[in-house]
Amino acid sequence: MKKLVSAILCICFVLLAAQSDLTVDGTWSIRVPAAPTSYERFAAQKLQSVLSEAFGTSVRMSAGAQAPYIAVGSASETDVSGVADNGYRIQVMDGNIHIGGTGTRGLQIGVYRFLEEFCGRKVYTAQITELPKTQSFRVDADTDVVYEPYFEYTETDWRCGSSPIAEFSMANGLFGGMYRSLSAEMGGTIRYLGGFCHTIGALCETEKYKESHPEYLALHNGERTTDQPCLSNPDVLEIAKKNVLAILAREHDPRASLQIVSVTQNDNYHYCQCDACRAFEQEHGGVQSATILRFVNEIADVVKDAGYDNVAIDTFAYQYSRQAPTGIVPRDNVIVRLCTIECCFCHALDDPDCPRNTALMQDLRDWSDICDRLYIWDYTTDYAHTCTVFPDFGVIQRNIQIFYEHSVKGVYEEGNFYLSTCDAEFGDLRLYMIAKCLQDPYCDLDAEVDGFLAAYYGAGWMNIRKAIDLYTSHAGNKQGHLGIYYSPKDTMQFTNREVGRIDCLWADAAEAAETQQQKEHVARSELSWRFWKAGVNKGEFSLLNPERFEERKKLFIDLKTFGALTISEGGYADYLDCICIKYVTADKWNQYEAGEAGAEARLFFGKLLEKWTPVLTAGGLLYRICQRIYHR
Ligand SMILES: [Zn+2]
Ligand SMILES: [Zn+2]
Repeated sequence: MKKLVSAILCICFVLLAAQSDLTVDGTWSIRVPAAPTSYERFAAQKLQSVLSEAFGTSVRMSAGAQAPYIAVGSASETDVSGVADNGYRIQVMDGNIHIGGTGTRGLQIGVYRFLEEFCGRKVYTAQITELPKTQSFRVDADTDVVYEPYFEYTETDWRCGSSPIAEFSMANGLFGGMYRSLSAEMGGTIRYLGGFCHTIGALCETEKYKESHPEYLALHNGERTTDQPCLSNPDVLEIAKKNVLAILAREHDPRASLQIVSVTQNDNYHYCQCDACRAFEQEHGGVQSATILRFVNEIADVVKDAGYDNVAIDTFAYQYSRQAPTGIVPRDNVIVRLCTIECCFCHALDDPDCPRNTALMQDLRDWSDICDRLYIWDYTTDYAHTCTVFPDFGVIQRNIQIFYEHSVKGVYEEGNFYLSTCDAEFGDLRLYMIAKCLQDPYCDLDAEVDGFLAAYYGAGWMNIRKAIDLYTSHAGNKQGHLGIYYSPKDTMQFTNREVGRIDCLWADAAEAAETQQQKEHVARSELSWRFWKAGVNKGEFSLLNPERFEERKKLFIDLKTFGALTISEGGYADYLDCICIKYVTADKWNQYEAGEAGAEARLFFGKLLEKWTPVLTAGGLLYRICQRIYHR
């Protein structure tokens, strides 16, 4: 009897709870302010168009909308006064839903996140948006979601193809202005004015003054060089100030939430070693960042005095300037971008067993202690061998968490910016993973990745998930580390049997793909696996296989067909002229152009080897036996 009573009570409770939850359907309206701002109009129209599509009916929108309604912006009654800039609040009150936001984009983001979290809309790529067609969806009666951005600046250049990326960026939280354009009503982007990086040579006009004022140039190893300026020379500082103010006069937008001028060292190690620079550095920890910071602080002061309140001056902690100085701190309006170029990417940055990363972690802590506006420039591809797999999937999320936990305010995840057309690897997946982690470093990334893979690759997506997991668990060189310039042989370690297993996973994924788009996605991403094998003579590229020469040519043609024309950073299409495609491992394709030393000889011996390989391998008999064993 007791059990029965408690069961009835339980059912009553569930029914009561269910009754008080909201069921949003086509009868609901959108309530807007009588005179909406451009942000409010954009947010309300986005809500209206998506809900109308989901419900298959035209959802009404007006200033005097009757309950039940979703109120947007100042038409809502939710209190956002305590919500940080560009954050939002979604709250249920009196049976209606209220969405409010702060800053230039909080409200719009709030609407996108409402559509994702409650309506199930996922924007996976520029081409793939999933929207469940439904009669209704449920919103809990006690819903009160407050979101505040984890980072003020989020940027990555990852992409595959060149589709417009504004909708993807709004849905998934990317607001850097270097690789996307968002309209004013969307809230705009955070832009670097003048240049994104390595700007100091231009700002100090080193080329212009090299004859008349060699003392303006860096003194490196006893010689003046235009590679960097001398940062202790007061005239150089004046030149840089003048040029920064000129950039602001030209490009500054007072309505933007934040704009940045980059004052960053050129991309070389030729910093100034003059007496004045050395003396200041010796007094401040013996590091080159000291003179840089003094220089940048002075510029930041001038910019502030000129009234540019929404502008920050950015500099690097990069290579020789990575270590933080002592006795000098960045101004409030100075951004320090710490760069992880030397790091290992199969160990998390805070892995105490990875010596390459422990040094960076110390620098991160030191900068975090003295800099309120610390940004990160992070690296997420293999810059020397772009077409191969870069198995860093296991650290992307943890590293972004580490940045957040060390008070980092902005993150740029550098990827395949130098690609002219298409990516041979997982460009779209990386873009999605990075965006989701920057939006919320503690998101359920596994679930996000699974959802993406299913939408992108079709019914066989689990095979690709398994392949990616195997890449991750076998990442690194023989010592277990992974750098961003590694050859295929140092990026992953697999036995022939494991290679056979991964081949089967790709074959199964290809077979299960249904649409033309899914088939293309599988084939394109598999290029990176084939490239890795062609870099290490495994699988069909085995030295036991007399067909390996033709397989290399086939891979080459497929890369071309997909438009994956870039083999390395700065190496656009440089392998298209290779005359030894069939005769060298894929990672060496850019080394054998016609007319270059060794190319003709390599071609001659390659042809000879191709001719005799069937004899040397007994017609590939052993290869075929091995393949039968390795494949299932
Ligand atoms: Zn100097
Ligand atoms: Zn490592």
